[in-house]
Formats: sequence, structure tokens, C-alpha cells
Amino acid sequence: MKILTIIGARPQFIKAAALSREIAKHDDVEEIIVHTGQHFDANMSEIFFSEMEIPKPNYNLGIHSLGHGAMTGRMLEGIEEVLLKEKPDVLLVYGDTNSTIAGALAAKKIHIKVAHVEAGLRSYNMDMPEEVNRILTDRISDFLFCPTQTAVDNLRKEGYQNINCQVIKSGDVMQDAAAFYAGISAEKSTVLKSIGLDQYALVTLHRAENTDDIGRLTAIVSALNAIHEKICPIVLPLHPRTKSKLETAHLNLKVKIIDPVGYFDMIELIKHAALVMTDSGGLQKEAFFFKKNCVTMRDQTEWVELIENGVNVLVGADTEKIKASFQQMLNKASDFSMDLYGNGQASNNIIMALKKALNS
Ligand code: UDP
Repeated sequence: MKILTIIGARPQFIKAAALSREIAKHDDVEEIIVHTGQHFDANMSEIFFSEMEIPKPNYNLGIHSLGHGAMTGRMLEGIEEVLLKEKPDVLLVYGDTNSTIAGALAAKKIHIKVAHVEAGLRSYNMDMPEEVNRILTDRISDFLFCPTQTAVDNLRKEGYQNINCQVIKSGDVMQDAAAFYAGISAEKSTVLKSIGLDQYALVTLHRAENTDDIGRLTAIVSALNAIHEKICPIVLPLHPRTKSKLETAHLNLKVKIIDPVGYFDMIELIKHAALVMTDSGGLQKEAFFFKKNCVTMRDQTEWVELIENGVNVLVGADTEKIKASFQQMLNKASDFSMDLYGNGQASNNIIMALKKALNS
């Protein structure tokens, strides 16, 4: 079986690292990796390939720093060319980025089967580019690998049982990655020494719905500054998009800002944090994997089971709500014993399902 994997953005490198490790155990499965180039600078791309030992991409399309239309269009064209040359049995895409929808669409139009990892997730906010990408990708996928029961239920509500595709609850490949790399991160990472703080909250902020809305960004910055000054020091690896938006808006974020970090550093930062606060999808789950409460600066989340189990709380971009929930979650003793994401078996489940369906 020949799998062609599309990756382009940071979370996809982490997910692909888990699945590529699993694929390498199967002599009868070949993987071709295409990096679209969506994330391209050293801290957002190269470091993940080197430290996580992801196989070097066979193709790098070098497409980045463009608007949605130009980026998706060029990826569609570039990926189709590779697909026609490589003729894989299945194209594998992750998550909800422009690389995801471009890959799925390119393959579907030339009758190559599409496997979507992280299928069935919904925020029910169609203003988010990610929501548009994931809904369209799901609809044209042949194999929909759902990380959670909620994702399976979402697809059922949308009538996927009447569509010619396979919906499979695989578990979440991010849990596979977190479990494997947490075994080596402590030895490899020096980030804790370099920040030199005994107690801190880990914060990330990068979603367009927060960074591209000046009102929301101002309210969040105001909450973070107040928390850092009065409640608990904040460490914030700053995404390049957020950095540029803060500069343009002349907003002064007075917390401990560091450059984006590699995955080993990220795991160590989460493990030792008093609390995680984020608008990232991946971070919400990683907080849970490492038994940390999470405050989510969004109005919806795809990871509703975290909210239902009381380990995560949605605060939007409301300054007072962020501060109050931060304080409350900082002091809360939560139960993290439930299995919500498949306990590290997702990659194996995905490969076995694809082999069963395609190795004839
Ligand atoms: N991440 C990282 N370094 C950073 C920030 C995030 O390794 O400086 C990891 C994080 O642990 C998670 C993934 O990147 O696994 C999440 O990526 P991001 O927040 O960009 O995207 P999302 O999950 O929201 O799609």
C-alpha cells in the first residue's frame, strides 16, 4: 500500500510524527510525504522534523505567506501534480488547514481515495476558516478517522451513515505523539532552565478569531497583563502571526514572551505548568494528557468532552471572565483518569483500517 501524506502546519508535523513512526513498522506500507510549506520558518517547521525524526519530506511545495485563495489554489495545483506522478492508493490529510482541504480536493477529483485524520470535529462556527476546511474535507473523504465519540456523533447527525464512506473511531494521534515524546523530552529539553521560574502558567494565542479582531486581542492582552502582574507569571511562546498583530495594534503584552518552541520544550512546559491557557486546539488536549486544567480563550471548542468533564473552561475574550476563570482553575483539583482520546492506539488503528480496506 502506498500512502501519500500531506502536511504543512505545526500541529500536522506532530500528528504525522506519530503516524509515520507506526507506518515504519509495516514493510508493506510505503509513505510519501508532501510538505506544502504553509509553516516554513525554523521554529515552526524545521525543528519538528529534526527532533521528532519525521522522515524528510519527499516533496516541498514551498507555498506560504499568501491569502486563503492563492494559498489553497497553488497547493491544489502542486498536490495534483505530485499525485499524478506518485499514484498512491490513498491520500492522508490531517486536521483543518488550507493544506488539508487542498490535498483532499486534489485527490478526490482524480479518484484517489482520501483519508481524513481528525474527522468529525465541529465548532459550529462557520466564520472560522478551520471549520470550513474540516467540513468540506470530511464530505469528500473515503475514510473518516474520528478522534472522539463526539466526532462520530457529529457525523451521524449530519447523515454520514447515508454517504459512501467509512467512519472509524480511531482515537487521537496527538495522544500517541504526547505519550511517545514525553518519554524523551525531559532529557532533551533545556527550556525550564532557561525560563528559570518555579511557578508559571503556560499560554498560547494564535487563532485568527482572536488575533485579527482588535477588540478581542486588546481584551485578552489586558487580562494576561493583569494575571502576570497579580496572580501568576505567564510564559508565552509567541506565534509569528500574533507577534505581527500585536505590533500593528501597538499592544504591549507584558508577560514572559519566548520564541515558538519545539515539541520537546512544549511538553516540558506543559508538564511543569500550574495551568494552561490557550486558543489552540492541540494544547487543550495536551493539557489533559499531562493532567493540567485548561482555560480556553474561545467561544466554542471542538473538544467538548474536556468541558463536560470539568477540566477545561471556555472564557471567550472577556477580560474579567478570563481573570476569574484563571483563578478558579488554578485552584481546582480535577480528575484526569478518563480515557477520552484512545489511550495512544490511534496510529495503529488507522494503519490497520487502511490496510484492511486497501491491501487486496
Ligand atoms: N506547539 C509547539 N510549540 C509552540 C506552540 C505549540 O510545539 O510554540 C505545539 C503544541 O504543543 C500542539 C501544537 O503545536 O501540539 C498545536 O499547534 P497550534 O496551536 O499551532 O495549532 P492548533 O492545535 O490550534 O491547530
